[in-house]
Amino acid sequence: MSCDPLDLVRPGVRASRPFVAGRPVEDLERELGITRAVELMANENPLGPSPRALEAAAVAVAGANRYPDGAGLALRRRLAREHGVTPGMIALGAGSNELLALLVRLFVGPGDEVVCSDPTFVMYGILVRAQEGVVVAVPSRGLAHDLEAMLAAIGPCTRMVFVCNPNNPTGTLVDRDAWARFLERVPPHVVVVSDEAYHEYVDDPAYPRTIDDLARKRPLVILRTFSKLYALAGLRIGYAIARPEVVALFDRVRVPFNVSAPAQAAAVAALDDVAHGERSRALVRAGKALLLTALPELGLVAHPSHTNFVLADLGRDARPVCTALAQRGILVRAMTTFGMAPNYMRITIGSADENRTLLAALSTVLGGTAAGVA
Ligand code: PMP
Repeated sequence: MSCDPLDLVRPGVRASRPFVAGRPVEDLERELGITRAVELMANENPLGPSPRALEAAAVAVAGANRYPDGAGLALRRRLAREHGVTPGMIALGAGSNELLALLVRLFVGPGDEVVCSDPTFVMYGILVRAQEGVVVAVPSRGLAHDLEAMLAAIGPCTRMVFVCNPNNPTGTLVDRDAWARFLERVPPHVVVVSDEAYHEYVDDPAYPRTIDDLARKRPLVILRTFSKLYALAGLRIGYAIARPEVVALFDRVRVPFNVSAPAQAAAVAALDDVAHGERSRALVRAGKALLLTALPELGLVAHPSHTNFVLADLGRDARPVCTALAQRGILVRAMTTFGMAPNYMRITIGSADENRTLLAALSTVLGGTAAGVA
């Protein structure tokens, strides 16, 4: 007698869909017989990791017969110094994705509600649904979080609210005043999560310093990652900043040794290499300026962004355009994967060369779509 595992799995998992990861760039290169595909799909850093981080990781790899420091103390101390908090206020994860998963596991049960914006980072919904929680997705206003409507959506069954700041995929910011008004009014039974994966790219002085809000005795978790500015996406390392009593909860549900020694060592070295971070920021600033000027010249609406990507509205179905770009060795993301209308496409800012290659290909492809590709 056989049994379909789908009948056995938890109902939340049965109803859920997996995260759609970008196509591996090597796969595309093999198919096209090319060596240097342009990967602008996952908001990674085209500069590559800091050489100092690579060296530190290599030293750590030599000790791979040993388990890593399960408490991640050296990195937590370094992060504490960086942010002016105590090591007890830092939790480490295999990417901020792991911390998101742990948060949902800690606080959300069947029927519990979680409020977020729509569109926003898709993992919130995926994790909450798998836990049999209820996602209350509040439509954005323009492309920005509608914090008033999000507040209105909070009820007695709400356990958590996600604010993605700046937001993926819209690139929009919640400013200091709006954030303060919001935080003041979220009831204390709701855990507020400020996902700041793109924090280091924000230049706007109105960006809130959420770490200051940890002084209030209300559940607040700030998430950061080494995957973006610090260019360590492949090593999987992120962190949460929260009050010590919240940080201690992560230890109850995480697996031991969740962050590898090379990841921990590379992260410390990456924080120390301030110049590399500055180069990454400068690259994104210049690339963003170029795309925000050049994309409208191709007839697209390019939305201003506080991140290392730009959301473009093609005014027509973006999916065939993404496919045509892939055929030319360029990967960008069609935003239907984030539940958005098909006219949106998200472009990660690449190196100067990559941005130029993208624009040239886009110009050809859009000419082509006008002639019937779409
Ligand atoms: N939050 C947001 C808003 C993101 O865009 C991402 C990555 N795309 C993550 C969290 C997770 O990143 P990581 O697990 O690599 O730290």
